[in-house]
Amino acid sequence: MFQSIDPATGTPGATFAELTTDELEARIARAHDAYRQWRRVPLTERAALLERIAERFEADKRRLAEIATREMGKTLASAIAEVEKCAAGFRHYAQNGPAMLEPVTIQTAAGPATTHYLPQGPVLAVMPWNFPYWQVVRFVAPTLLAGNVGLLKHASLTQGCAAAIEEAIIAAGAPAGVFQNLPIRADKVDALIADPRIVAVTLTGSEGAGMKVAESAGRALKKVVLELGGSDPFIVMPSADLGQAAQVAAKARVQNTGQSCICAKRMIVHADVYDAFLDRFCAAMRAVTTGDPMDPATDMGPLSSIEQRDTVLDQIEQLKAAGGRLLLGGEALPGRGAFMSAGVVVDVPVDHPVAQEEVFGPIAMVFRADDIDAAIALANDVPFGLGSSVWTNDTDEQARFVRDIEAGMTAVNRMLASSPEAPFGGVKRSGHGRELGPYGLHEFMNLKTVFG
Ligand code: NDP
Repeated sequence: MFQSIDPATGTPGATFAELTTDELEARIARAHDAYRQWRRVPLTERAALLERIAERFEADKRRLAEIATREMGKTLASAIAEVEKCAAGFRHYAQNGPAMLEPVTIQTAAGPATTHYLPQGPVLAVMPWNFPYWQVVRFVAPTLLAGNVGLLKHASLTQGCAAAIEEAIIAAGAPAGVFQNLPIRADKVDALIADPRIVAVTLTGSEGAGMKVAESAGRALKKVVLELGGSDPFIVMPSADLGQAAQVAAKARVQNTGQSCICAKRMIVHADVYDAFLDRFCAAMRAVTTGDPMDPATDMGPLSSIEQRDTVLDQIEQLKAAGGRLLLGGEALPGRGAFMSAGVVVDVPVDHPVAQEEVFGPIAMVFRADDIDAAIALANDVPFGLGSSVWTNDTDEQARFVRDIEAGMTAVNRMLASSPEAPFGGVKRSGHGRELGPYGLHEFMNLKTVFG
Protein backbone atom coordinates (compact mmCIF):
# COMPACT_ATOMS: atom_id res chain seq x y z
CA MET A 1 0.00 0.00 0.00
CA PHE A 2 1.05 3.59 -0.66
CA GLN A 3 -0.06 5.98 2.07
CA SER A 4 -0.47 9.71 1.36
CA ILE A 5 0.47 11.95 4.29
CA ASP A 6 -0.45 15.64 4.37
CA PRO A 7 2.91 17.33 5.10
CA ALA A 8 1.14 20.40 6.52
CA THR A 9 -0.47 18.42 9.34
CA GLY A 10 1.09 14.95 9.39
CA THR A 11 -2.40 13.51 8.86
CA PRO A 12 -2.66 10.29 6.84
CA GLY A 13 -4.79 10.61 3.70
CA ALA A 14 -5.73 8.18 0.93
CA THR A 15 -4.09 4.82 0.39
CA PHE A 16 -3.32 3.21 -2.95
CA ALA A 17 -2.76 -0.47 -3.60
CA GLU A 18 0.53 -1.45 -5.17
CA LEU A 19 0.18 -3.48 -8.39
CA THR A 20 0.75 -7.22 -8.09
CA THR A 21 3.21 -8.87 -10.48
CA ASP A 22 0.31 -10.16 -12.60
CA GLU A 23 -1.39 -6.77 -12.72
CA LEU A 24 1.85 -5.12 -13.77
CA GLU A 25 2.36 -7.69 -16.52
CA ALA A 26 -1.22 -7.13 -17.75
CA ARG A 27 -0.61 -3.37 -17.99
CA ILE A 28 2.58 -3.78 -19.98
CA ALA A 29 0.84 -6.21 -22.35
CA ARG A 30 -2.02 -3.72 -22.73
CA ALA A 31 0.44 -0.91 -23.52
CA HIS A 32 2.11 -3.10 -26.14
CA ASP A 33 -1.25 -3.91 -27.79
CA ALA A 34 -2.51 -0.35 -27.55
CA TYR A 35 0.61 0.93 -29.30
CA ARG A 36 -0.07 -1.21 -32.39
CA GLN A 37 -3.40 0.59 -32.84
CA TRP A 38 -2.46 4.05 -31.59
CA ARG A 39 0.50 4.44 -33.98
CA ARG A 40 -1.95 4.22 -36.89
CA VAL A 41 -4.51 6.68 -35.49
CA PRO A 42 -4.39 9.86 -37.62
CA LEU A 43 -2.40 12.71 -36.16
CA THR A 44 -5.49 14.95 -36.14
CA GLU A 45 -7.25 12.48 -33.80
CA ARG A 46 -4.23 12.23 -31.53
CA ALA A 47 -4.13 16.04 -31.37
CA ALA A 48 -7.88 16.14 -30.64
CA LEU A 49 -7.35 13.82 -27.66
CA LEU A 50 -4.80 16.28 -26.22
CA GLU A 51 -7.34 19.13 -26.58
CA ARG A 52 -9.91 17.09 -24.68
CA ILE A 53 -7.40 16.24 -21.93
CA ALA A 54 -6.64 19.97 -21.60
CA GLU A 55 -10.37 20.60 -21.12
CA ARG A 56 -10.56 17.90 -18.41
CA PHE A 57 -7.65 19.43 -16.54
CA GLU A 58 -9.25 22.87 -16.69
CA ALA A 59 -12.70 21.66 -15.68
CA ASP A 60 -11.29 19.76 -12.71
CA LYS A 61 -8.49 22.11 -11.70
CA ARG A 62 -9.54 22.86 -8.14
CA ARG A 63 -9.88 19.17 -7.23
CA LEU A 64 -6.59 18.23 -8.92
CA ALA A 65 -4.83 21.11 -7.18
CA GLU A 66 -6.17 20.10 -3.77
CA ILE A 67 -4.87 16.54 -4.22
CA ALA A 68 -1.38 17.91 -4.92
CA THR A 69 -1.46 20.32 -1.98
CA ARG A 70 -2.54 17.56 0.41
CA GLU A 71 0.07 15.11 -0.88
CA MET A 72 3.19 17.26 -1.17
CA GLY A 73 2.40 20.60 0.47
CA LYS A 74 2.61 23.18 -2.31
CA THR A 75 0.31 26.18 -1.94
CA LEU A 76 -3.11 25.72 -3.46
CA ALA A 77 -2.58 28.84 -5.60
CA SER A 78 0.61 27.38 -7.09
CA ALA A 79 -1.06 23.98 -7.57
CA ILE A 80 -3.90 25.64 -9.52
CA ALA A 81 -1.33 27.49 -11.63
CA GLU A 82 0.42 24.17 -12.25
CA VAL A 83 -2.79 22.52 -13.48
CA GLU A 84 -3.47 25.49 -15.76
CA LYS A 85 0.04 25.18 -17.14
CA CYS A 86 -0.64 21.51 -17.86
CA ALA A 87 -3.72 22.45 -19.91
CA ALA A 88 -1.53 24.91 -21.84
CA GLY A 89 1.07 22.16 -22.37
CA PHE A 90 -1.50 19.74 -23.84
CA ARG A 91 -2.88 22.53 -26.06
CA HIS A 92 0.57 23.53 -27.22
CA TYR A 93 1.24 20.05 -28.59
CA ALA A 94 -2.32 19.66 -29.90
CA GLN A 95 -2.08 22.87 -31.91
CA ASN A 96 1.59 23.09 -32.84
CA GLY A 97 2.80 19.48 -32.61
CA PRO A 98 1.51 18.25 -35.98
CA ALA A 99 3.62 20.84 -37.83
CA MET A 100 6.70 19.61 -35.93
CA LEU A 101 6.17 16.16 -37.44
CA GLU A 102 5.99 17.29 -41.08
CA PRO A 103 8.38 15.36 -43.36
CA VAL A 104 11.39 17.33 -44.60
CA THR A 105 12.99 16.82 -48.01
CA ILE A 106 16.78 16.83 -48.20
CA GLN A 107 18.86 16.87 -51.35
CA THR A 108 21.59 14.21 -51.40
CA ALA A 109 24.16 13.30 -54.06
CA ALA A 110 21.93 10.31 -54.87
CA GLY A 111 18.78 12.42 -55.26
CA PRO A 112 16.11 13.61 -52.82
CA ALA A 113 15.55 11.94 -49.44
CA THR A 114 12.67 12.58 -47.03
CA THR A 115 12.72 12.43 -43.23
CA HIS A 116 9.69 10.98 -41.42
CA TYR A 117 9.03 11.11 -37.68
CA LEU A 118 7.60 7.74 -36.62
CA PRO A 119 6.62 6.46 -33.16
CA GLN A 120 8.49 3.61 -31.50
CA GLY A 121 6.34 2.07 -28.74
CA PRO A 122 5.59 2.32 -25.02
CA VAL A 123 7.71 4.87 -23.14
CA LEU A 124 8.22 4.58 -19.37
CA ALA A 125 8.33 7.75 -17.26
CA VAL A 126 9.74 7.80 -13.71
CA MET A 127 8.56 11.03 -12.18
CA PRO A 128 9.03 13.06 -8.96
CA TRP A 129 6.62 14.66 -6.51
CA ASN A 130 7.62 18.32 -6.74
CA PHE A 131 5.50 19.28 -9.77
CA PRO A 132 3.35 16.16 -9.69
CA TYR A 133 1.23 17.13 -12.72
CA TRP A 134 3.50 19.29 -14.84
CA GLN A 135 6.46 16.88 -14.79
CA VAL A 136 4.15 14.15 -16.09
CA VAL A 137 2.54 16.37 -18.74
CA ARG A 138 5.98 17.28 -20.12
CA PHE A 139 6.33 13.60 -20.96
CA VAL A 140 2.81 12.48 -21.71
CA ALA A 141 1.64 15.24 -24.09
CA PRO A 142 4.44 14.71 -26.65
CA THR A 143 4.34 10.93 -26.11
CA LEU A 144 0.68 10.63 -27.09
CA LEU A 145 0.97 13.06 -29.98
CA ALA A 146 3.97 11.12 -31.33
CA GLY A 147 1.90 7.92 -31.49
CA ASN A 148 3.86 6.33 -28.66
CA VAL A 149 2.02 5.18 -25.53
CA GLY A 150 2.83 6.12 -21.94
CA LEU A 151 3.50 4.22 -18.71
CA LEU A 152 3.95 6.24 -15.52
CA LYS A 153 5.84 5.23 -12.38
CA HIS A 154 5.12 8.25 -10.22
CA ALA A 155 6.76 9.12 -6.89
CA SER A 156 5.52 7.17 -3.88
CA LEU A 157 4.45 10.47 -2.27
CA THR A 158 2.08 11.53 -5.05
CA GLN A 159 0.08 8.44 -5.96
CA GLY A 160 -3.17 10.42 -5.71
CA CYS A 161 -1.94 12.81 -8.40
CA ALA A 162 -0.86 9.83 -10.53
CA ALA A 163 -4.33 8.26 -10.27
CA ALA A 164 -5.99 11.61 -11.08
CA ILE A 165 -3.90 12.03 -14.24
CA GLU A 166 -4.88 8.56 -15.46
CA GLU A 167 -8.54 9.28 -14.69
CA ALA A 168 -8.45 12.57 -16.65
CA ILE A 169 -6.82 10.98 -19.69
CA ILE A 170 -9.30 8.08 -19.75
CA ALA A 171 -12.25 10.44 -19.20
CA ALA A 172 -11.05 12.46 -22.21
CA GLY A 173 -11.53 9.36 -24.35
CA ALA A 174 -8.04 7.86 -24.63
CA PRO A 175 -8.25 4.29 -25.92
CA ALA A 176 -7.45 1.62 -23.29
CA GLY A 177 -3.73 1.20 -22.71
CA VAL A 178 -2.63 4.45 -24.36
CA PHE A 179 -1.71 5.88 -20.95
CA GLN A 180 -1.47 3.82 -17.76
CA ASN A 181 -0.44 4.63 -14.23
CA LEU A 182 1.73 1.96 -12.58
CA PRO A 183 1.50 2.19 -8.77
CA ILE A 184 4.78 0.37 -8.11
CA ARG A 185 7.91 0.83 -6.02
CA ALA A 186 11.22 2.00 -7.46
CA ASP A 187 12.70 -1.52 -7.23
CA LYS A 188 10.41 -2.64 -10.08
CA VAL A 189 11.82 -0.11 -12.55
CA ASP A 190 14.95 -2.02 -13.59
CA ALA A 191 12.93 -5.02 -14.84
CA LEU A 192 10.53 -2.74 -16.70
CA ILE A 193 13.39 -1.06 -18.54
CA ALA A 194 14.75 -4.49 -19.47
CA ASP A 195 11.35 -5.55 -20.84
CA PRO A 196 11.55 -5.66 -24.65
CA ARG A 197 8.05 -4.21 -24.96
CA ILE A 198 9.21 -0.90 -23.45
CA VAL A 199 11.29 1.15 -25.89
CA ALA A 200 12.62 4.08 -23.87
CA VAL A 201 12.64 5.72 -20.45
CA THR A 202 12.57 9.28 -19.14
CA LEU A 203 13.30 10.24 -15.53
CA THR A 204 13.03 13.45 -13.56
CA GLY A 205 14.52 13.28 -10.08
CA SER A 206 17.76 12.94 -8.17
CA GLU A 207 21.21 12.08 -9.47
CA GLY A 208 21.04 8.75 -7.63
CA ALA A 209 17.81 7.64 -9.30
CA GLY A 210 19.13 8.97 -12.62
CA MET A 211 22.27 6.85 -12.37
CA LYS A 212 20.25 3.69 -11.64
CA VAL A 213 17.84 4.28 -14.49
CA ALA A 214 20.65 5.18 -16.90
CA GLU A 215 22.50 1.99 -15.91
CA SER A 216 19.41 -0.11 -16.60
CA ALA A 217 18.81 1.70 -19.89
CA GLY A 218 22.46 1.21 -20.86
CA ARG A 219 22.27 -2.53 -20.20
CA ALA A 220 19.13 -2.75 -22.33
CA LEU A 221 20.54 -0.34 -24.98
CA LYS A 222 17.54 1.94 -24.69
CA LYS A 223 17.35 5.66 -25.04
CA VAL A 224 16.99 7.62 -21.80
CA VAL A 225 16.22 11.27 -21.09
CA LEU A 226 17.37 12.46 -17.66
CA GLU A 227 16.24 15.66 -16.00
CA LEU A 228 18.15 15.64 -12.71
CA GLY A 229 19.01 18.13 -10.04
CA GLY A 230 20.35 21.60 -10.33
CA SER A 231 22.20 24.15 -8.20
CA ASP A 232 21.30 27.13 -10.33
CA PRO A 233 23.36 30.31 -10.06
CA PHE A 234 21.64 33.72 -9.89
CA ILE A 235 24.27 36.29 -10.82
CA VAL A 236 23.89 39.98 -10.01
CA MET A 237 26.22 42.54 -11.65
CA PRO A 238 26.57 46.27 -10.83
CA SER A 239 24.38 47.50 -13.72
CA ALA A 240 21.39 45.40 -12.57
CA ASP A 241 18.23 46.83 -11.08
CA LEU A 242 19.08 45.65 -7.54
CA GLY A 243 15.62 46.07 -6.08
CA GLN A 244 14.01 43.96 -8.79
CA ALA A 245 16.85 41.40 -8.73
CA ALA A 246 16.47 40.96 -4.95
CA GLN A 247 12.69 40.49 -5.16
CA VAL A 248 12.97 37.97 -7.98
CA ALA A 249 15.87 36.15 -6.29
CA ALA A 250 13.72 35.58 -3.19
CA LYS A 251 10.77 34.42 -5.27
CA ALA A 252 12.99 32.13 -7.35
CA ARG A 253 14.54 30.60 -4.22
CA VAL A 254 11.36 29.90 -2.26
CA GLN A 255 9.04 28.86 -5.11
CA ASN A 256 7.58 25.44 -4.32
CA THR A 257 9.22 25.76 -0.86
CA GLY A 258 12.60 25.65 -2.56
CA GLN A 259 11.88 22.27 -4.12
CA SER A 260 12.32 22.95 -7.81
CA CYS A 261 15.20 21.78 -9.97
CA ILE A 262 15.42 25.29 -11.44
CA CYS A 263 15.11 27.25 -8.21
CA ALA A 264 17.85 29.87 -7.97
CA LYS A 265 20.00 28.24 -5.26
CA ARG A 266 23.30 30.15 -5.28
CA MET A 267 23.24 33.95 -5.45
CA ILE A 268 26.56 35.20 -6.88
CA VAL A 269 26.90 38.93 -6.43
CA HIS A 270 29.52 41.37 -7.74
CA ALA A 271 31.55 42.85 -4.85
CA ASP A 272 30.54 46.43 -5.77
CA VAL A 273 26.86 45.72 -5.09
CA TYR A 274 27.18 42.80 -2.67
CA ASP A 275 26.12 44.66 0.49
CA ALA A 276 23.34 46.61 -1.21
CA PHE A 277 21.92 43.45 -2.80
CA LEU A 278 22.25 41.38 0.37
CA ASP A 279 20.25 43.93 2.41
CA ARG A 280 17.43 43.94 -0.10
CA PHE A 281 17.52 40.17 -0.56
CA CYS A 282 17.41 39.47 3.19
CA ALA A 283 14.44 41.84 3.51
CA ALA A 284 12.62 39.98 0.71
CA MET A 285 13.39 36.57 2.28
CA ARG A 286 12.24 37.81 5.71
CA ALA A 287 8.93 38.90 4.18
CA VAL A 288 8.13 35.37 2.92
CA THR A 289 5.03 34.08 4.72
CA THR A 290 5.04 30.42 5.67
CA GLY A 291 1.94 28.53 6.73
CA ASP A 292 -1.26 26.79 5.67
CA PRO A 293 -0.83 26.02 1.97
CA MET A 294 -4.60 26.28 1.45
CA ASP A 295 -4.55 29.96 2.56
CA PRO A 296 -4.19 32.33 -0.43
CA ALA A 297 -2.04 34.67 1.71
CA THR A 298 0.67 32.00 2.17
CA ASP A 299 3.83 32.24 0.05
CA MET A 300 5.34 28.98 1.20
CA GLY A 301 3.78 25.76 2.47
CA PRO A 302 5.60 22.89 4.19
CA LEU A 303 8.30 20.82 2.55
CA SER A 304 7.08 17.60 0.97
CA SER A 305 7.83 15.49 4.06
CA ILE A 306 9.50 15.61 7.46
CA GLU A 307 12.41 13.62 5.97
CA GLN A 308 12.87 16.17 3.19
CA ARG A 309 12.86 19.03 5.72
CA ASP A 310 15.34 17.24 7.99
CA THR A 311 17.69 16.71 5.07
CA VAL A 312 17.70 20.48 4.46
CA LEU A 313 18.13 21.30 8.18
CA ASP A 314 21.08 18.93 8.27
CA GLN A 315 22.63 20.64 5.23
CA ILE A 316 22.34 23.99 7.06
CA GLU A 317 24.08 22.54 10.15
CA GLN A 318 26.91 21.30 7.95
CA LEU A 319 27.29 24.72 6.34
CA LYS A 320 27.39 26.38 9.78
CA ALA A 321 29.99 23.92 11.01
CA ALA A 322 32.15 24.83 8.01
CA GLY A 323 32.03 28.58 8.79
CA GLY A 324 28.82 29.54 6.98
CA ARG A 325 26.84 32.30 8.72
CA LEU A 326 23.06 31.90 8.80
CA LEU A 327 21.77 35.47 8.56
CA LEU A 328 18.12 34.61 9.00
CA GLY A 329 15.58 31.78 9.10
CA GLY A 330 16.53 28.23 8.21
CA GLU A 331 14.74 26.79 11.23
CA ALA A 332 12.06 24.14 11.72
CA LEU A 333 8.73 25.66 12.74
CA PRO A 334 6.84 24.13 15.67
CA GLY A 335 4.01 21.67 15.09
CA ARG A 336 3.50 18.40 13.26
CA GLY A 337 3.88 19.84 9.77
CA ALA A 338 7.11 19.77 7.73
CA PHE A 339 7.49 23.56 7.88
CA MET A 340 10.67 25.59 7.99
CA SER A 341 11.46 29.26 7.52
CA ALA A 342 13.22 30.68 4.47
CA GLY A 343 16.90 31.33 5.21
CA VAL A 344 20.06 32.98 3.93
CA VAL A 345 23.61 31.69 4.46
CA VAL A 346 26.80 33.62 3.62
CA ASP A 347 30.55 32.87 3.88
CA VAL A 348 30.09 29.29 2.72
CA PRO A 349 33.36 27.69 1.53
CA VAL A 350 32.72 27.13 -2.18
CA ASP A 351 34.23 23.67 -2.19
CA HIS A 352 32.18 22.43 0.77
CA PRO A 353 30.21 19.29 -0.18
CA VAL A 354 26.86 20.98 0.60
CA ALA A 355 27.77 23.95 -1.61
CA GLN A 356 28.27 21.40 -4.38
CA GLU A 357 24.94 19.60 -3.76
CA GLU A 358 21.36 20.40 -4.67
CA VAL A 359 19.80 22.03 -1.58
CA PHE A 360 16.11 21.18 -2.03
CA GLY A 361 14.57 23.63 0.41
CA PRO A 362 14.16 27.41 0.93
CA ILE A 363 17.79 28.23 1.79
CA ALA A 364 19.90 30.58 -0.31
CA MET A 365 23.67 30.64 -0.30
CA VAL A 366 25.11 34.06 -1.21
CA PHE A 367 28.63 34.36 -2.64
CA ARG A 368 30.75 37.43 -3.48
CA ALA A 369 32.55 37.69 -6.85
CA ASP A 370 35.20 40.32 -7.64
CA ASP A 371 34.53 40.43 -11.37
CA ILE A 372 32.69 38.69 -14.19
CA ASP A 373 35.38 36.00 -14.56
CA ALA A 374 35.06 35.11 -10.88
CA ALA A 375 31.25 35.10 -11.17
CA ILE A 376 31.33 32.70 -14.13
CA ALA A 377 33.92 30.48 -12.43
CA LEU A 378 31.73 30.26 -9.31
CA ALA A 379 28.62 29.61 -11.40
CA ASN A 380 30.34 26.71 -13.15
CA ASP A 381 32.05 25.32 -10.04
CA VAL A 382 29.36 22.69 -9.30
CA PRO A 383 28.69 19.33 -10.90
CA PHE A 384 25.29 20.54 -12.19
CA GLY A 385 24.34 22.57 -15.24
CA LEU A 386 20.58 22.98 -15.43
CA GLY A 387 19.37 26.59 -15.29
CA SER A 388 20.84 30.02 -14.52
CA SER A 389 19.67 33.58 -14.19
CA VAL A 390 21.87 36.60 -14.86
CA TRP A 391 21.17 40.21 -13.94
CA THR A 392 23.01 42.87 -15.88
CA ASN A 393 22.09 45.67 -18.28
CA ASP A 394 25.48 45.49 -19.99
CA THR A 395 25.02 43.68 -23.32
CA ASP A 396 28.66 42.50 -23.47
CA GLU A 397 28.25 40.89 -20.05
CA GLN A 398 24.98 39.28 -21.14
CA ALA A 399 26.76 37.76 -24.16
CA ARG A 400 29.59 36.44 -21.94
CA PHE A 401 27.12 34.73 -19.62
CA VAL A 402 25.20 33.17 -22.49
CA ARG A 403 28.45 31.85 -23.97
CA ASP A 404 30.26 30.77 -20.82
CA ILE A 405 27.78 29.57 -18.22
CA GLU A 406 27.60 25.80 -18.35
CA ALA A 407 23.85 25.33 -18.20
CA GLY A 408 21.00 24.16 -20.39
CA MET A 409 19.11 27.42 -19.83
CA THR A 410 19.97 31.04 -19.03
CA ALA A 411 17.40 33.70 -18.14
CA VAL A 412 18.54 37.32 -18.59
CA ASN A 413 17.07 39.85 -16.13
CA ARG A 414 14.17 37.54 -15.30
CA MET A 415 13.26 34.44 -13.34
CA LEU A 416 13.83 31.16 -15.13
CA ALA A 417 10.67 29.14 -15.73
CA SER A 418 9.81 26.30 -18.08
CA SER A 419 7.39 26.93 -20.89
CA PRO A 420 5.76 24.42 -23.26
CA GLU A 421 7.30 26.01 -26.37
CA ALA A 422 10.97 26.08 -25.31
CA PRO A 423 13.38 23.17 -24.80
CA PHE A 424 14.08 22.30 -21.17
CA GLY A 425 17.02 20.27 -19.86
CA GLY A 426 20.57 20.40 -18.63
CA VAL A 427 24.22 19.54 -19.11
CA LYS A 428 26.83 17.94 -16.81
CA ARG A 429 25.24 16.01 -13.92
CA SER A 430 21.87 17.69 -14.48
CA GLY A 431 21.23 15.07 -17.15
CA HIS A 432 20.83 14.90 -20.88
CA GLY A 433 18.18 15.13 -23.55
CA ARG A 434 15.49 17.77 -23.74
CA GLU A 435 11.84 18.03 -22.85
CA LEU A 436 9.25 20.43 -24.33
CA GLY A 437 9.16 22.22 -27.67
CA PRO A 438 9.87 20.23 -30.83
CA TYR A 439 12.96 18.69 -29.21
CA GLY A 440 10.90 17.02 -26.49
CA LEU A 441 8.50 15.68 -29.09
CA HIS A 442 11.29 14.20 -31.22
CA GLU A 443 13.32 12.58 -28.39
CA PHE A 444 11.57 9.21 -28.51
CA MET A 445 10.70 9.08 -32.19
CA ASN A 446 12.28 7.19 -35.04
CA LEU A 447 13.54 9.77 -37.51
CA LYS A 448 13.36 7.61 -40.60
CA THR A 449 15.16 8.71 -43.76
CA VAL A 450 13.46 7.57 -46.94
CA PHE A 451 15.48 7.55 -50.14
CA GLY A 452 13.71 7.73 -53.45
P1 NDP B 1 14.12 10.51 -6.24
O1 NDP B 1 15.04 10.83 -7.35
O2 NDP B 1 14.45 9.36 -5.39
O3 NDP B 1 12.65 10.26 -6.85
C1 NDP B 1 12.26 10.57 -8.18
C2 NDP B 1 11.58 9.37 -8.81
O4 NDP B 1 12.54 8.34 -9.02
C3 NDP B 1 10.48 8.75 -7.94
O5 NDP B 1 9.46 8.24 -8.77
C4 NDP B 1 11.21 7.62 -7.25
O6 NDP B 1 10.35 6.61 -6.78
C5 NDP B 1 12.09 7.13 -8.37
N1 NDP B 1 13.27 6.38 -7.96
C6 NDP B 1 14.01 6.54 -6.84
N2 NDP B 1 15.04 5.66 -6.83
C7 NDP B 1 14.94 4.94 -7.96
C8 NDP B 1 15.69 3.84 -8.48
N3 NDP B 1 16.76 3.35 -7.87
N4 NDP B 1 15.30 3.32 -9.66
C9 NDP B 1 14.22 3.80 -10.29
N5 NDP B 1 13.46 4.81 -9.85
C10 NDP B 1 13.82 5.39 -8.69
O7 NDP B 1 13.89 11.80 -5.38
P2 NDP B 1 13.51 11.92 -3.82
O8 NDP B 1 12.05 12.05 -3.73
O9 NDP B 1 14.11 10.84 -3.00
O10 NDP B 1 14.24 13.29 -3.46
C11 NDP B 1 15.62 13.28 -3.12
C12 NDP B 1 16.35 14.45 -3.76
O11 NDP B 1 16.25 14.34 -5.18
C13 NDP B 1 15.78 15.83 -3.46
O12 NDP B 1 16.25 16.31 -2.25
C14 NDP B 1 16.28 16.61 -4.65
O13 NDP B 1 17.60 17.01 -4.43
C15 NDP B 1 16.24 15.61 -5.79
N6 NDP B 1 15.04 15.75 -6.61
C16 NDP B 1 15.12 16.50 -7.72
C17 NDP B 1 14.01 16.72 -8.49
C18 NDP B 1 14.10 17.55 -9.70
O14 NDP B 1 13.08 18.09 -10.15
N7 NDP B 1 15.28 17.69 -10.27
C19 NDP B 1 12.70 16.17 -8.13
C20 NDP B 1 12.72 15.35 -6.94
C21 NDP B 1 13.85 15.16 -6.22
P3 NDP B 1 9.91 6.58 -5.22
O15 NDP B 1 9.25 7.87 -4.94
O16 NDP B 1 8.97 5.42 -5.17
O17 NDP B 1 11.18 6.39 -4.45
